[in-house]
Amino acid sequence: MKYCRRCCYPANHPLNIVFDDEGICSGCRIHEEKDLIEWSEQGNKLSGILNDYKCKTPEKWDCIIPVTGASDSYFIVDTIKNKFKMNPLLVSYNKHYNTELGIRNLAYLRTIFDCDIITKTVDPKIVKKITRATLNERGSIYWHILAGSTAFPVQIAVKFKIPLIIWGVHQGCDQVGMFSHLDEVEMTGKYRRDHDLIGLDEEYLLDGNYGIEDGDIEAFTYPHAKEIESVGVRGIYLSNYIRWDTKAQHEKMIDKYGYESGIAQRTIDNYNYVDCHHYTGLHDYIKFLKFGYGKITDNVNREIRFGRLSRNEGIDLIKSYQFIIPKEIHLFCEWLGITQSELFENIDQHRDSDIWTYNENNGWELLDSLDNHRNETIPFRGAEKNGCTFLKTSNRSDLASDKEYILIAKGYIN
Ligand SMILES: [Zn+2]
Repeated sequence: MKYCRRCCYPANHPLNIVFDDEGICSGCRIHEEKDLIEWSEQGNKLSGILNDYKCKTPEKWDCIIPVTGASDSYFIVDTIKNKFKMNPLLVSYNKHYNTELGIRNLAYLRTIFDCDIITKTVDPKIVKKITRATLNERGSIYWHILAGSTAFPVQIAVKFKIPLIIWGVHQGCDQVGMFSHLDEVEMTGKYRRDHDLIGLDEEYLLDGNYGIEDGDIEAFTYPHAKEIESVGVRGIYLSNYIRWDTKAQHEKMIDKYGYESGIAQRTIDNYNYVDCHHYTGLHDYIKFLKFGYGKITDNVNREIRFGRLSRNEGIDLIKSYQFIIPKEIHLFCEWLGITQSELFENIDQHRDSDIWTYNENNGWELLDSLDNHRNETIPFRGAEKNGCTFLKTSNRSDLASDKEYILIAKGYIN
């Protein structure tokens, strides 16, 4: 396997990665822009866009912000509402695998920022039917969340005729440098289908033998291009206009609003995924079983690029996290009504043969390891000592147990 000589990304990254003559990946190269771009100019551009959509009547919504109980939602709402004085409508797709901490972060988000919010909770029977299908088709337990959380905001934009949707980071740009920040790429149905949904269109599920009917995919269906056009809906990414540093942003939100951090099972980032039982657990373990790397690699690479970790420290962290077996596999299997062997049989069909091989005696084995590529490292910046420590906040109540998902819970009054 070829690995980037500055970060630790392998060539089989599913979002596609390219390497230059020095062996440095496109994600690292595009990240260099963060220190070269005149961010104040980008901020002015953002201000111009927002002004075009600001409503004259203050009680009307100017834009839509998709939110969760994690992942920079506080930062995005704080920026748009308090800095740029917009009146956003918040929309949230209920991911079903909710933790109590995530429910609480979302509840406080509503009251701290004084915004209207619309939540979509799909019938659990439908979510399970779809998850059985996507597990078989793509080895994914997360498809319904990726599809629902990228369709629902656009559905609401069309329905309420609110043409501007504001997203946080563009993953393709941030991880693999698919675009320059200066391209200012916007949301498209094509990117959603090809990358967010791993090429698995909601319509495709209708054709399989899963008993999925038209009504079942309504929540996961991206509006038709004609509907989008008639309202003029566009979705912008703040990471093209603000120098995006999710770690620093979360720390600001912890300090300012009491955002709660949690525990990530298989990675160092305690901030971004605390609302979900599985994102850094089973879902991430599946990613490792498919591609031979997990969220720890994504997070380490981000920290290397910011100069907060060296590549060698990153490789050590990857080695210590990537084999961790997640605690909550049983939760998912009980919820879906399958056995653990059925789960892993489904996943094994989707292992990438560029990095995994099956050996009759030992089972599945990795074909390569970052250890074999340590001496290829091109040193990058001086890594700050302890620069990449993630804070553990004191929590408003005890951390939730791992006994169950919380579909709907009480709110919290701030
Ligand atoms: Zn790289």
